[in-house]
Amino acid sequence: MKTSALSRVTTETQHQLAALRRIRDLTGAEASTLARRRSRYTRSARGFAKSMNRRRFLKRVALISLPAAAGGGVWLASTRGVPKQLAAGCCEGLRREAPGRDDPATEAPLPGVDPTTDEGARERPSHASQLLADQKQRSVEKSLDFDNQFQDDVRIEPERRELLVSASRRLERAQKVVGHGHFNLLGFDELLLYARRYSSIGAFPEAELRLMDDLFHADATRYGFLGDKVIPRITDEISKRDTFKIGGSGHYLIKGEPLDKYRRLRRDLGPNVVLTSGVRSVVKQFQLFLRQSIESEGNLSRAARSLAPPGYSYHAVGDFDIGRVGLGEKNFTEAFAETPEYAKLIELGYVEIRYPMANDFGVRHEPWHIKIG
Ligand SMILES: [Zn+2]
Repeated sequence: MKTSALSRVTTETQHQLAALRRIRDLTGAEASTLARRRSRYTRSARGFAKSMNRRRFLKRVALISLPAAAGGGVWLASTRGVPKQLAAGCCEGLRREAPGRDDPATEAPLPGVDPTTDEGARERPSHASQLLADQKQRSVEKSLDFDNQFQDDVRIEPERRELLVSASRRLERAQKVVGHGHFNLLGFDELLLYARRYSSIGAFPEAELRLMDDLFHADATRYGFLGDKVIPRITDEISKRDTFKIGGSGHYLIKGEPLDKYRRLRRDLGPNVVLTSGVRSVVKQFQLFLRQSIESEGNLSRAARSLAPPGYSYHAVGDFDIGRVGLGEKNFTEAFAETPEYAKLIELGYVEIRYPMANDFGVRHEPWHIKIG
């Protein structure tokens, strides 16, 4: 029984790895890391099978195998669907890859400048800083009119619009199976396991995985989103034991500063203040970003003005949203800034709003979003 379960899992994992290797153009170093991890897995698989039940074993297999294939290296942002002037000029120079844990950050040379010469070294900072200043100004302008569509917005390729919808629906189905609260913490590997095991979700086809992989690794500055990438790997997970569930909210907060600050806010602002969104995993952020992108008719820049792309959300590292009881969805609009709770909030002196009006991130004003750290 255990042996056949083991071989089925091994086969499944090998197929998945093969698919992911096709998706990702692995470098030699990444390939050897993958090979090392696979051989480690093979050596120890029987030991795991003896000591674990199948559910825990499945989880362990995914955790060991997938990070090397799905999140192991630098993925150059695709320029498909990007207006030519963006692909060739502005954003190539501004590309900021999320560095892997073991990899030093690499920076693409600026067009027309040789970084190895003295001349290149002299010209580079001013050229780069001018580009950054121009892009920042443009992003701030757009954030003030965030719901509008602009000609220089980045849109998803038309042929991938349907994939956007099908991946989004699959995530909504997964949330139903997993449960609303737990879905906030769900890791990417866990999502894939749930999808394979529950026919009501259905396994992710390769094209959907590729879309999600591309979206995660795309440089969000191309969309005009200028925040930092806070989660470098698609498979990075939130440590569940470091979180605390806030009763009645369906949301979790990270223990320490986020939880302490929320409790202090409740003491100071009263029970009319509630947690409307807490810590969010990459998967939860995907669900929200895909939903927002569909509402924005595939306009990724417009979506990113209201919602950080997966990997770029500070909700993954401690930020949270608060609202007023009874305000419902309007808590995520300027209406929250009109409440007495907000008026008191900004008087407290120990709270910072992550996205104030005309912020440097290129994100709309979010008076409800509490900054941590
Ligand atoms: Zn928020």
